[in-house]
Amino acid sequence: MWVSLKLVRIYLNSQTIILALFISSVAGEPMNIHEYQAKQLFQAYGIPSPQSKQVTTATAAVLATNEIAGNAWVVKAQVHAGGRGKVGGVKVAKNSDEVKQFAAEMIGNRLVTKQTGEKGLPIESVLIEATSAIKCEFYLSVLVDRASERVMFVSSIAGGMDIEAIAKDSPEKIISIIIDPAAGVQSYQCRRVAFSWSLQGAQIRALEKVMKGMYQLLLEKDASQIEINPLIETEEGDIIALDAKINFDDNAVALHPDILQLRDEGQEDEKENKAQLYDLNYITLDGSIGCMVNGAGLAMATMDLVKLKGGAPANFLDVGGGTNTEKVCEAFKLILSDSNVKAVLVNIFGGIVQCDIIAKGILTAVDEVHVTIPVVVRLEGTNAEKGRELLNNSDFGVVAADNLASAAEQVVALAKAVA
Ligand code: ADP
Ligand code: MG
Repeated sequence: MWVSLKLVRIYLNSQTIILALFISSVAGEPMNIHEYQAKQLFQAYGIPSPQSKQVTTATAAVLATNEIAGNAWVVKAQVHAGGRGKVGGVKVAKNSDEVKQFAAEMIGNRLVTKQTGEKGLPIESVLIEATSAIKCEFYLSVLVDRASERVMFVSSIAGGMDIEAIAKDSPEKIISIIIDPAAGVQSYQCRRVAFSWSLQGAQIRALEKVMKGMYQLLLEKDASQIEINPLIETEEGDIIALDAKINFDDNAVALHPDILQLRDEGQEDEKENKAQLYDLNYITLDGSIGCMVNGAGLAMATMDLVKLKGGAPANFLDVGGGTNTEKVCEAFKLILSDSNVKAVLVNIFGGIVQCDIIAKGILTAVDEVHVTIPVVVRLEGTNAEKGRELLNNSDFGVVAADNLASAAEQVVALAKAVA
């Protein structure tokens, strides 16, 4: 769910074509898991993390402190997003009363971080963790790099911070290492990272173990990215993962029932999940114009044009090449379930499908779903004339536009008139 979604949003901000092309090549959406689940996987792969326990009530949180060494604990909200520390989602409790208080405050509430959008995500559990004495915070991740077509480690001495900000402001602090698939992670590659962090002796071997564990985990479980931010050096000199984020390749997750059962749909966008059921590519955005398009490239171009004409798309929706009435109906339902939507733009190119069949599908859908807001349709390709005729002769007030530019202009004007 993450990479392509993020890219679409970046795309909408910067409107660059290169990213659009990249998005259409992004196959599937990554599946996320919680920090506590990622840390359990880390344990299986020899990556050390502090002693911890996931709990769903404040009472259980207090009981957990009996099992975890120390006299201060970190209470961490379990949501599928980073940036928790800055917004009160990671709190150090100096005694068990504070553990109880922080857990009670978090569980049942929502956490809004830089990565969640303004609605935030529900906190259904917290992780109670031993506090570590931090000497240095590093950044370490491993991912599938599309440019080099290899697995790549990204490391930085400046951990604990936004990696995007480091990449922008001090790119010299980032060291990337590409792994040859035939050779796997080599000791000299781990040493390169270790030396850049000024690690010594046993720490260098500890980092090698972490990197090899991450690589093994990525390959064996078909993860697309594993991120540890921060990976720390403790005052005692140990190397420990304080945070853990893993994304899995959605197209491969069916091969791993153990990973699939870690999925938490409560953390995912309901509409996006529903779209998946009908094989629709749907991503929620925050504008007022619902878009229904066949083909990811055409969908990007449509959103571009809507923006160019002064509107804002409410979603990205690709109904696919060979669409049918059922899919069009479901797509309308999805679009209309968003109360921000003031008008709908349907943009279909009839290559494989015929426009008159699509027009009938649209009219059936508008009737069945009781669409009351303005709908503008642009049809082009096979039987486009016939399709437009059907729309023009219907009683539903669907606007059949002559071309894409005029369709975008009309839908933006209609949405503004309604708002
Ligand atoms: P997020 O990335 O969502 O903000 P992190 O798990 O990275 O969450 O925690 C944020 C910060 O809180 C870390 O950079 C670290 O400084 C501190 N922190 C997290 N866990 C611990 C811990 N177990 N002991 C001490 N400090 C911690
Ligand atoms: Mg973090």
